[in-house]
Amino acid sequence: MTLRVAIVGTGPGGFYTADALLKSDVELEIDLIDRLPTPFGLIRGGVAPDHQTTKRVIKAYDRSAQNECVRFYGNVELGKDVALEELKALYDAVVLAVGSPLDRKLGIPGEDKKGVFGAAAFVGWYNAHPDFRNLDPDLACSAAAVIGNGNVAIDIARVLVKTPEEMAETDLSDYAATAIHGGAVEDVYMFGRRGPVEAKFTNVELREMGNLTDCHPVVDPADLPNEVTGEWSARDRRLRERNLETLREFTALDPADKSKRVHFAFYANPVEILGGAHVEALRLERTAVENGRARGTGEFFEIECGLVLPAIGYQAVPVPGVPFDEDNGVIVNEDGHVGDGVYCAGWVKRGPTGVIGTNKPDGDVVAHRILDNLGAGAGKEGRRGLEALLAGKGVRHVTYDDWQKIDAAEISAAADPAPRRKFAAVEEMLAVLES
Ligand SMILES: Cc1cc2nc3c(=O)[nH]c(=O)nc-3n(C[C@H](O)[C@H](O)[C@H](O)COP(=O)(O)OP(=O)(O)OC[C@H]3O[C@@H](n4cnc5c(N)ncnc54)[C@H](O)[C@@H]3O)c2cc1C
Repeated sequence: MTLRVAIVGTGPGGFYTADALLKSDVELEIDLIDRLPTPFGLIRGGVAPDHQTTKRVIKAYDRSAQNECVRFYGNVELGKDVALEELKALYDAVVLAVGSPLDRKLGIPGEDKKGVFGAAAFVGWYNAHPDFRNLDPDLACSAAAVIGNGNVAIDIARVLVKTPEEMAETDLSDYAATAIHGGAVEDVYMFGRRGPVEAKFTNVELREMGNLTDCHPVVDPADLPNEVTGEWSARDRRLRERNLETLREFTALDPADKSKRVHFAFYANPVEILGGAHVEALRLERTAVENGRARGTGEFFEIECGLVLPAIGYQAVPVPGVPFDEDNGVIVNEDGHVGDGVYCAGWVKRGPTGVIGTNKPDGDVVAHRILDNLGAGAGKEGRRGLEALLAGKGVRHVTYDDWQKIDAAEISAAADPAPRRKFAAVEEMLAVLES
C-alpha cells in the first residue's frame, strides 16, 4: 500500500520532512503544496539577495522535488483553494509547514504611521515576494531606524547601504534596486534594547558590516564592556566575545570619505513613533541591562528618521481547525504530531528561530512520527483526488516543470552578472507558462 502525504509549505520545513520520508523504504506519494507558484519559502523570499551562497541549499530541495514519488502543486493556498478537511480526506498525513509569515509588532504608539514596515514586509518587498511588491516605501529620507539586533536587522541595514556595484551579483528585485539606489538614506540606526553581548547577530554577518565599500559602521566605545559577563554556554560565550572583538575593531576604523553609516545603537528601547501621517522621528528610552534583561532608565531621546523597520521576530498564522499556542506562536504538537492525521514542521512547529539547517532534524522527527503512526497508509485517494478537486474548482496549479520554466525565464532575463531577474507578480509567472 502507498503512504500518501500532503506537505503544505515548501520552505525548509516542508522539504526536510519530504527528504526524511524519502529515506524510508515505504512506498510513498508526497505532494508538496504551496500558495505561491515558486517553491522554497524564505530561501527565495527571506534570505538576503546578496547572500547567494546561502541559497544554494535549494539544490538539495530540487533533487527531492524531482524524485519520482514527489509532485509540486504551486499556486494552491490552504484555506482558499483547498480546505484542511479536504486534504485530510485525501491523504494519510497532512504536514503543515506554512512558516511564520507575520511580523511581531512593537506595540508602541505610532506604529500605524506611513513609513513603518515590519521586516517580513520590507524583506519581502526587496526580495520580490508577490505579497509585498506594491509596498512602495518612500526612501527619500536621509535616515532609517531598524529595530532589532538579529541577522534579519543586519540584512536590512546592509541592503540599504550597499552600493549598486556591491548588489550587482544579487537577485535584489529591480524595483527595489531603483528605489534604494535612487533614494537618499545615508544613516541607518540599528537599535537594540540590550547591549552588544546580548545581540543575536552572528559574527560573519556582523564582520561584513566592516567591509562595505561606501558605509562606515559606527559604534560608541562606551557601549562595549571589557568582557562577556553573565551565564552563557562556552560556545555562546565565544560567539559573544567574537562579536565584541569585531565591534571594537569597528571603533578603530577610519570613516574615510564613506557617504553612509550604520549606527550600532545599543541600550535603546523604542517607545513611540513620532510624526503626522508619516514617520518623522523615533523616541527611545535608554536602558540598562540587569540579569540579561533591559530596564528603562527614565532617560529619553529622539532621532529623526523617515523609515522605521522593526525586525523583532515573526509570528505564525493559526490554521482554522488546528490547535494553536498563542503564547509561543506555534501549532500545538508533540514532536510534530498534531493529531487526526495532521502534523507540522519548521517554524510553525517550533517557532521562528534558528537557521535553515535547524529545520532538518525537525523534519526527521516529524517524518519518523508519520512513519511510526501510519506505516504503509490506508489506501486513500491522494494526488488523483487533489487534481480532480483543483480542476473542479478551476484552480490553475503550477507543476514543478512549470516552476522550472519560470526559473529559466528569470535566469535568462537577468542582466549580467545578476543570477536572475525575479518576477514579483503571480500573473507574470503564470504568463511565462502561457507563452
Ligand atoms: C528575512 C530572513 C532571512 C533569513 N536568512 C537566513 C539565512 O541567511 N541563513 C539561514 O540559515 N536562515 C535564514 N533565515 C531562516 C530560514 O529562512 C528559516 O529557518 C526557514 O525558512 C523556515 O522554514 P519554514 O519551512 O518553516 O518556513 P518558510 O520558509 O517561511 O516556508 C513556508 C512556506 O509555506 C507557504 N505557505 C504559507 N501559508 C500557506 C498556505 N496557506 N497554503 C500553502 N502554502 C503556504 C509559503 O509560501 C512558504 O513557501 C532567514 C529568515 C528570514 C525571515
